[in-house]
Amino acid sequence: MLAAPLFIDVRAGAVAGLGTLLSDLQIARSGRVAVAVGPSQGDAIRDELRIDGAEVLRIPDGSLASAVELGQRLRSGQFEAIAGIGGGKTIDVAKFAAHMAGIPMVAVTTSLGHDGIASPVSTLRHESGTGSYGVVMPTAVLVDLDRVRSAPAALSTAGIGDVISDLSAVADWELAAAEVGEQIDGLAVAMARSAALVVLHQPGPARGDEFLTVLAESLIMSGMSMAVAGSSRPASGGDHEIMHAVNELFPGTASHGELAGVGALFCTFLRGDDAKAELISACLRRHGLPRTPADLGLSDADFAKAVAYAPRTRPGRYTILEHLDLSEPQLTDRVSAYVKTFTA
Ligand SMILES: [Zn+2]
Repeated sequence: MLAAPLFIDVRAGAVAGLGTLLSDLQIARSGRVAVAVGPSQGDAIRDELRIDGAEVLRIPDGSLASAVELGQRLRSGQFEAIAGIGGGKTIDVAKFAAHMAGIPMVAVTTSLGHDGIASPVSTLRHESGTGSYGVVMPTAVLVDLDRVRSAPAALSTAGIGDVISDLSAVADWELAAAEVGEQIDGLAVAMARSAALVVLHQPGPARGDEFLTVLAESLIMSGMSMAVAGSSRPASGGDHEIMHAVNELFPGTASHGELAGVGALFCTFLRGDDAKAELISACLRRHGLPRTPADLGLSDADFAKAVAYAPRTRPGRYTILEHLDLSEPQLTDRVSAYVKTFTA
């Protein structure tokens, strides 16, 4: 069985259609709807939405504690549905809270930073790092291109790196199938790979409607590939292990999408797939996304340290990193060859 959103709408001004959507799909009949927004969102959103009986709830941060608190509030307030309006953090908190309260959730995305827009996973911060929690897929997904465009450039399209990393994640999955007999899900692979390829070959400009639509749809497909697979496998391989490692060892270095893109390029380089690495590098470069440790503000030694640590972030996942099992001197070597190749 495939859990998929009932409704997907990617366009400029999509937020304004939220009220109609909620009543048309009968997600909320009595109108008791919670609208979760991030701390930077003003009260203007209430007037813009024009949903009678909607209560705007402000989410302070992307922590597990905030998500649990919101879940309790949804339950005690007897809300019928929740709409999360914002970037990744707000959506993740709202998804978790909706799951906890057992009510439908509509994701209204205002930045294209990663593929969690339409995934059954919520990523939240807790005392000792970040956790990924299985939740119910959003009932509907709206992507407002006007809001995506007005978000800071670095955040709004960093999801390019996240969706491109599917190419590396799929290659890791195929490697695991060949080496350790892991079962592959063909539909999940098809969705993840085509989502990545269409972004890889779509020239831009990155803030034009056509590109943003392709990116939004690809991120949705990538998120859904995880629902099909029943795990993050099609969208998370050695690339995401490197991302998690950088986040643990050097917190605050860069965003999810930026790190996933660098991780994918490095893993593709390690795999010796020069043609694919060249394409990924060109795409990241075209969109102003980081490619090298220096672009991330890390030294080569720190990056090598993160790559060495990476397999520990996801025990049991077989990727190119576990496969090669490089020693520290070997890794230092590979990182310096990588930097030489992609510094230009
Ligand atoms: Zn990701």
